Amino acid sequence: MAECNSECGSCESAETCDLKLKTKMSAIKHKIMVLSGKGGVGKSSISVNLAVALAMDGMKVGLLDIDFHGPSVPTMLGLQKITLNTDETGIIPAEIHNLKVVSISLLLPENKDDAIIWRGPMKSGVLKQLLEDVHWGELDYLIMDFPPGTGDEALSACQLVTDADGGIIVTTPQEVSLSDCRRCISFCRKLDLPVLGVLENMSGFACPDCAKVIDVFGSGGGENMANEKNVPFLGRIPIDPDFAAACDTGRPFIYHSQHKPAAQAFSKAVDELMKQIKKN
Ligand code: ADP
Repeated sequence: MAECNSECGSCESAETCDLKLKTKMSAIKHKIMVLSGKGGVGKSSISVNLAVALAMDGMKVGLLDIDFHGPSVPTMLGLQKITLNTDETGIIPAEIHNLKVVSISLLLPENKDDAIIWRGPMKSGVLKQLLEDVHWGELDYLIMDFPPGTGDEALSACQLVTDADGGIIVTTPQEVSLSDCRRCISFCRKLDLPVLGVLENMSGFACPDCAKVIDVFGSGGGENMANEKNVPFLGRIPIDPDFAAACDTGRPFIYHSQHKPAAQAFSKAVDELMKQIKKN
């Protein structure tokens, strides 16, 4: 029997290790990875709101935050003070808004502000454990919030979850973000991860006083880039100060501000994403 080399430290052999992961993943119908070339473009906000939107539609949804060095999902859902429970067979996710949530920062009982300083193999081992030891149960969707860029964790996640529906790539309209986004598309292609679409976030700001749209970071670059790379374009989400406030206070924007243009643009993007998933 081949030895387990995943560094998860919990399996007797590579065969049992693979089987455990496959069994766990087979109970999840759709796996969607949310990536970005750069930090700060709204990837975690999109992951959280996508997960909440799907749960609001009556789907069974899990949200896994694998942004080890900048986990923001707990704050965006108001869960930052909790620590996840475990039993002898695994990790019990937090539940909020009809959503199961796991983030590495909810498993570390120490100061949540401490930096996680782990080398690549350690992160791969922990990631594998998060995928196979969490009691997700049967899910319609697992949304995975990736770290920015195309480093170790992103690579490990793609290698571990081999049957993902694909990735959504979040970008802002500026060239500095778009060029990293192109690299992300190339990363997905090299790993045979279908690109479900590019989402342009922070695309223009509608002045609340005069309703004039100001293109703070420009607009339209995401769509042009998606066309140029021949990948679907999911839509544009404008800047909305309430979106940022909602993230900071743990109140998902899509849940509390459905009437706002940014929430409506987001819902349209989710519809577009669902079309892409059905096509695949
Ligand atoms: P990333 O995961 O890419 O690092 P975040 O999701 O943490 O980015 O978002 C960075 C900041 O931008 C957060 O404070 C978030 O609330 C804010 N933000 C994201 N999208 C929008 C938007 N459309 N309008 C206003 N603020 C936004």
